[in-house]
Amino acid sequence: MKIGILGGGQLARMMAASGIPLGMEFVFVDPAADACAGAYGHLLTAEWDQAPSLEDLRGCDRISCDFENVPAEVLDALVEIAPVRPGPNAFAAAQDRLTEKRLFQRLDIPVPPFAEVSSRADLLEAIDAIGLPAVLKTRRFGYDGKGQAVLRSKEDLEPAWRALGGRDLILEGWIDFHHECAITAVRGADGSIVCYPLSWTVHADGILRLALAPAPVAPKLESRAHELVGRLLSELDYIGCLTLELFATDQGLVANEFAPRVHNSAHWTIDGSVTSQFENHLRAVCDLPLGNTAMRGQALMLNWIGQVPPMEDFLRVPGLRWHDYGKSARPGRKVGHATLVAEDRRDLEAGLVGIVDLVDDQTASLLKGEMTPLG
Ligand code: AMP
Repeated sequence: MKIGILGGGQLARMMAASGIPLGMEFVFVDPAADACAGAYGHLLTAEWDQAPSLEDLRGCDRISCDFENVPAEVLDALVEIAPVRPGPNAFAAAQDRLTEKRLFQRLDIPVPPFAEVSSRADLLEAIDAIGLPAVLKTRRFGYDGKGQAVLRSKEDLEPAWRALGGRDLILEGWIDFHHECAITAVRGADGSIVCYPLSWTVHADGILRLALAPAPVAPKLESRAHELVGRLLSELDYIGCLTLELFATDQGLVANEFAPRVHNSAHWTIDGSVTSQFENHLRAVCDLPLGNTAMRGQALMLNWIGQVPPMEDFLRVPGLRWHDYGKSARPGRKVGHATLVAEDRRDLEAGLVGIVDLVDDQTASLLKGEMTPLG
């Protein structure tokens, strides 16, 4: 099977790393000549919406994406070449926060209160209805906390309005969550669905820093997350891997957004699960049976942001696995991750004692916040 992937970043790279043992070949389309997936297949250096490069995807048996902002019309055109999985409908829904929130509402998936904002008058009206604090977000192209501003008082309105471009915005009520979490699930072409255990996610400055799985939650919450993501997958007639990001509140789970692709919050599945999210995504895309999502114990993933730390000392920690994406260092950029896998929570905490002294201060303090015995 030859798989064409739009986007050649770390997600494409990890997909390929898991697909090559299954005999798959990969072609990536990316504007960057040094796109890091290139080490694992043929890289077409071109804007992914330029016709000649997309024509080069002829010969692929399947087409998939490593990011969600591929214009839906580009995907629609590619359907002529090979099955595009997940389908363009999932991208259209995920690319616009307003469409996405309305879809959640229709499926009875709880969402923060929200309102469309296209003018200053809309914004004032939305604040009257929703109250402060609230989050003003661009409807499109936001990621890792970019394209949004928290409004705490009326003084914040004007700067936020201007910073976000003053059009095509959405205002969301502030959710007082006690934790953030994410559920990753995979739906096969035959409609079968497998779910990974819920991940506990920790962000700083809008960027995911840690993920812990299984999340230490009651089984009822876990099954609720499975039910919600299942509803979304079935409604979209989805094929592939999808992650639904959720806020855990005292009133239950509230949906933030979904990603129609493999997701950072489930990178721990490479080392912590029988079958990784990347392999299961490809299995679904290629009509193969889905793999076992059971965990091999407890897993904690640490993201490397900006630059990869020197790995030698980390490699001394038993159960630690290292993933360098081969990207150049740049502030705020996701350049790698490490996963610690242990049989139980006690062993995981024991392993982390060795790690806390090696990581930067911010990561250490986030870790201490999550793992009480380290604090
Ligand atoms: P997003 O880009 O929508 O995933 O937002 C990035 C981060 O901002 C989330 O992971 C949350 O930590 C925070 N955030 C976004 N929306 C809200 C909200 N309505 N209430 C509280 N925090 C939010």
